[in-house]
Order: sequence, then C-alpha cells, then structure tokens
Amino acid sequence: MSEILLIHPPVAKPAEPPAGIAKLVGALRGHKIDCVAVDLNLEGLDYVLRQKPAAADTWSRRALRHVDKNRAALSGPDEYQNFDRYKRAVADLNRAVEIVGKGAAVELSLANYNDRELSPLSSQDLRQAAETAAENIYYPFFSRRLTELIESVTPSFIGFSLNYLSQALCTFAMIGFCRERFPEIKIVVGGGLITSWVSRPDWHNPFAGLIDHLLAGPGEVSLLILLGKTPNNRNFAPDYRDFSNLQYLAPGRILPYAASSGCYWNRCSFCPEKAEGNRYQQIKPEVVLTELKQLLSENSYDLIHFLDNALSPALLRQLVSSPPRINWYGFTRIEPDLLDPDFCQKLKKSGCVMLKLGVESGSAEVLSAMTKGIVVDDVARVLGNLHAAGIATYVYLLFGTPGEALAEARQTLAFTAERHQAITFLNLAIFNLPLYSAESKGLKVQNFYVGDLSLYGDFVHPRGWQRQNIRSFLDREFKRNPEIAAIIKRDPPIFTSNHAPFFC
Ligand code: SF4
Repeated sequence: MSEILLIHPPVAKPAEPPAGIAKLVGALRGHKIDCVAVDLNLEGLDYVLRQKPAAADTWSRRALRHVDKNRAALSGPDEYQNFDRYKRAVADLNRAVEIVGKGAAVELSLANYNDRELSPLSSQDLRQAAETAAENIYYPFFSRRLTELIESVTPSFIGFSLNYLSQALCTFAMIGFCRERFPEIKIVVGGGLITSWVSRPDWHNPFAGLIDHLLAGPGEVSLLILLGKTPNNRNFAPDYRDFSNLQYLAPGRILPYAASSGCYWNRCSFCPEKAEGNRYQQIKPEVVLTELKQLLSENSYDLIHFLDNALSPALLRQLVSSPPRINWYGFTRIEPDLLDPDFCQKLKKSGCVMLKLGVESGSAEVLSAMTKGIVVDDVARVLGNLHAAGIATYVYLLFGTPGEALAEARQTLAFTAERHQAITFLNLAIFNLPLYSAESKGLKVQNFYVGDLSLYGDFVHPRGWQRQNIRSFLDREFKRNPEIAAIIKRDPPIFTSNHAPFFC
C-alpha cells in the first residue's frame, strides 16, 4: 500500500521524465511516505501508437507502417546522426499520432491535444471532460491502467501534475474516471498550470466537489503537510527511479533538474513569473552539485537539462569550478560573466553544450521598455563569446510587445541576420499579454482566448502593431532572410529545444 499515486498525464513532449513529480517523490520518500509515480503521458503515447487506424493517403500509410521502427529509432542515438532522417522519423511518428486523433475528432500530436469541442481554458468544459471521461481518446488505456495501478498501489490520494494546457482535458477525464470508480480516494492536483490559475486575483475554485485539493506553487511542502508530515528544512533531490526504465524519445537519457523556481531578476515587464508573484527560491549552488553527483551515481544520464527560468551567475560559476562531468544546457540571462571570453571557454569545458537566451529584441528601446536589464551590444558580445567557445545558442525573440512597431522589429531582423553565425537556433514568438500583469493596466485589453481560465488576452497595440501585421512581417520578411531561414531550418521539429542540444 502506498499513500499516494502521482501521475504525469498526457499530452506533453515525451523527451524526458517529468521533473515536477520526481521532485515530489524525492520529498515524499525523504519523509518516509510511500508513493508511486507513473508517466501516463509516455504510456499513453505508446497506447496511441499501438492503434491501427485506416489511412487514406500514401504518407499516412507509410507513417503507420513504420510506427515501431520510428518509435525505436527516436529512442536511440543513431537516427540523430542524420538530421534529415531524424526529421522524417519525427514527422512520420507525429503523423501516425495525428491519424489516431482524427478518428476521435481530436487534433492530437506528439506535443499537443486539441479537442474541437472542449476548451482547456473553460472550467465548464473541463468539468464536462471529467463527466464524459469515456469519450476521451485515452479512455480505453487509462481506465484499464488506472484501475490496475489503484488496485495494486491502493493509494489514499491520487495526485495529478498539470503543467500545460495540452494536459488539461486528459487530466480532467482521468479525474472524472477516478472520482466515479474510486470515490473514496482523494484527488490532489498541482503543477505549473494550477499555480497560474490560482494566482489570478479573481480566482475562485470552479472545481469544488471534483478535486479535493488544488496545490499551487512548488508542491513539496503543501503536499507533505496535506499528508500529515511536518516538512523539515532539508531540500530533497528529485527521485527519478520510477521512470528509470522508460524509453523516452531522445537519443540519450536526459536528467531534468531545477536549481531554482521563480526568477532572480524578476523585473521584465509582462513576465508571467512576475505577474504571478512567484517567489525566487534557489538551492545553494554547492548543494546543486552534490545532488547532481548523487543522481548521476544512481543512474546513467547523457545530458542535464536545467529547468530554471534563468541559471544564476553563482550557479554558472559553481558549474565552472566543479563540472558535473556530463553535458548540460539551460536558460541564462546575459550576465557580465558571459562578456568574458575566458569564462565562456570554461563553461564549455564544464560540459555546457547550449545556452537558451531570452534576447527578445534587437532594439535598445524595446529592451529598455521591457526592463529587460540587457543591452544590445552586450547581447552581441555574449553571442560572439559563446560561439567562439563552441557553445550553441537557442535565442528567443518576442515580437509585438507594446514598445515595438515595424521599425523596431526590423532592427531585430538586422541584429539577428548580422549575428547569424553565432545563433544556432531561434524561437520566434508573438507577444501574448498576461492579463494580470501590472503593465496590462495601461493597455486596452480584449480577451481573445475565450474561457474563464484564460491567462492571456489580446490588446489594442498603442502603435497599431497588431498580430496580423506581425505575422505578415515574420512570414514575408523575417523568415525570408536567407541567413535567418537557415537558422530556422535547423530547429528540431516538434521537440525544438528539448532535442536541440543533440544537434549542436
Ligand atoms: S528573465 Fe525571464 S523569467 Fe526572469 S523576469 Fe525576465 S522574462 Fe521573467
């Protein structure tokens, strides 16, 4: 008998084990609480891939014929040696998943679940997903698997980790099933999406009677208290043992690890972390290295994925002075240390294969309006230093912030094209206004994501730089620049930055 069964629900990118649940497992077992964790996202994918739907066209028939081959190929290193072969395997596997979804009127992919009738942004639709659980595409799988798990684990609680909108409808379908079939078991739901919802100033719980406990924020402490333990002050390393035999879609084993939550900078305008008031909490750098050493001694891994919103300068220095002896990547800000070419060389020696950088814009005015705390010249120098050191860069650009119009977007284009050799990968996003950010108050907001759980809204751009103009600029100008087009072509489809370090 275990106290709690923890579930990572579909659909999320199946490249690595779920970090949030592993952290909970570490804290629970560290307090002598029995628990079992399962990745029903990965198991659910394998269930979908076992279906044999009819295929109308040649591509679909090929995709279905090669499902097993592609599933296996994407879980080993060989396919990643040839980018074209890799892309084809991903596209074919995704196609096979899409076809299964089509049969159930769901836009299903390796990374997404989009129901044509129910919205994950509507609490009413989520309740309906729970009431009509048997209509969910995964129902034959999860009704059998959850029953088997609950009968063998006999938990008092079932915990769902809900982090992405793409997981919401399936999570609620599973909750509906558990509620009906096992009414005596308490349902607990936490994760990033719950945290965002609960931090809305107008939050009221629309899930009373369906979910027993909603846990916002890093869930370890609240879950321990719920389970009757007084949390001691020790930080517990994540525990991935329940996932150690699973075949994720990656060429090697990835160890996701969060050295902090929140953000030490916490000043950028419109940042959801800031809008949600998430407190910065970090694990001391020396403790991070100790925990990593312990995790690496328990299991073999090929890559550390740091999940922090921004790795702190102190942790970067610690990684340089005590390298973890394995490749790693993560998000950093443009910090003074990175202006030093020697420091970048040392980072490379520490195992850093790729850094993700929230550059956002090539316009000094836009960066300043966003209180980004970085200047264009420094970004250029850091990109150059990282390139010289052999560290790949995954650069995030954001178009359509209130301070930007076409002229500034063109500056971003010029900046990117000029530094194309130092930019390995690019992520282009159109700005969504976090509805509850302080800065949104000065803007004329109009909700464009219909639903009472929307976190983002549309707004009247003060300079008339509306979404359709931005899309047109990106498609007709930005992406057509030959240097930029070459960078975009390099991006691993669907898996993007999760697989990018394997192509550096
Ligand atoms: S660095 Fe990133 S996480 Fe931190 S405040 Fe800025 S946008 Fe938010």
